[in-house]
Amino acid sequence: MNARCILLKYGELVLKGANKRRFEKALCDDIALAVQPIGSYKTEYRQSTLSLTMDDDSKTEAAFDALTRVFGIAALSIAYPCEKNMDAIQQTVREAIVPQLAGYRSFKADAKRSDKTFPLTSPEIMHKIGDLIGEWCPALAVDVHDPEIVVMTEIRDTCAYVHAGSTPGARGLPARTSGKGLLLLSGGIDSPVAGYLMAKRGMELSALHFESYPYTSERAREKVIALAKKLCRYTRTLKLSVLSLTELQLELKKAVREEYFTLILRRAMVRLACRFAAERKIPALITGESLGQVASQTLDALRATDLAANRAILRPCIGLDKEEIVTYARKIDTFDTSILPYEDCCTVFVPRHPKLCPDPEKIAAEEEKLDLDALLERAYATLEHLSLREDRLE
Ligand code: ATP
Ligand code: MG
Repeated sequence: MNARCILLKYGELVLKGANKRRFEKALCDDIALAVQPIGSYKTEYRQSTLSLTMDDDSKTEAAFDALTRVFGIAALSIAYPCEKNMDAIQQTVREAIVPQLAGYRSFKADAKRSDKTFPLTSPEIMHKIGDLIGEWCPALAVDVHDPEIVVMTEIRDTCAYVHAGSTPGARGLPARTSGKGLLLLSGGIDSPVAGYLMAKRGMELSALHFESYPYTSERAREKVIALAKKLCRYTRTLKLSVLSLTELQLELKKAVREEYFTLILRRAMVRLACRFAAERKIPALITGESLGQVASQTLDALRATDLAANRAILRPCIGLDKEEIVTYARKIDTFDTSILPYEDCCTVFVPRHPKLCPDPEKIAAEEEKLDLDALLERAYATLEHLSLREDRLE
């Protein structure tokens, strides 16, 4: 039997006009980053489908798994190429597809004929293959409306392909096609999801984490590193930087009114993040805030945070509720790490009654009590860098 291949259907980038080639190139670059560590491969692009064949067929499943996390792909399937005649197609269905149908109760045969010179039409191919599967697998019922599995025959210009169903791809736009964003990564549930959602829109991420050692522990930092590595499954690599807010938080606790503590801390974080982003020409910050989730995420509090920023602040979770965010967190496999019970710098020294509708003048008055520039300067001097890849910490 011929080596298997992976058929990849492009997502949203098929809608691109003059820029399409740039998006395709970005997608192919990201496919290379995802698949090259598994093994060498060949690709061929024809009729809006990319086919990828591993030099070593036994690596096909691993490559398929990696490709489910490449943005820009709408659907993918492991297909069996064969000669373009009904005998070869039937034989391939019998040998390669029928064994995959065990355990299913219903199926549908489908066909797509891009090569119009093929003697049978799509409905004719469908019926022929459907009838044969019915004979070979008598326990399997035909269900054209809601089948458990679809057996697909595609007649393309160079060969025919058969496969048993396709898997949804990661969708979105290819990596590094939408500019750069600095993810403010805490150890919580929301910020890894925010990073994933913006990477899915084609953004290139860097991440910045604030800690407050010894009030936050070494294990809290390890948790954030673990989360960043989970994100690398989608972004391939990620630079994670860490800044210490210990001195700043202790000063805040001494000097400002308790109900303003969190808000002023958040404004300080944003100022530090904007400086970090400006030095690296990163135009946007990304946070995991969701409107109304906690006191620092009311509209007034978000606005007060925005006023401390000189970059765009992207908040892709803003309209999601916790359950929706958790669904994403489970999908990207960050949830179990996020719920490990280690403290975050935002959860140490939490005020009992935080301001819900902060008045900008009062915030300014509280900030005046501090030598904020000097405190920010000293916090910034604590910057540390870590380079992460999915498979190792460099
Ligand atoms: P998360 O689950 O992401 O921690 P949260 O609901 O706990 O979010 P907050 O603690 O108010 O909310 O934080 C809001 C956002 O601020 C986070 O999503 C994250 O983007 C950023 N943030 C909070 N703490 C940190 C931190 N220690 N380092 C970097 N960014 C942080
Ligand atoms: Mg948090």
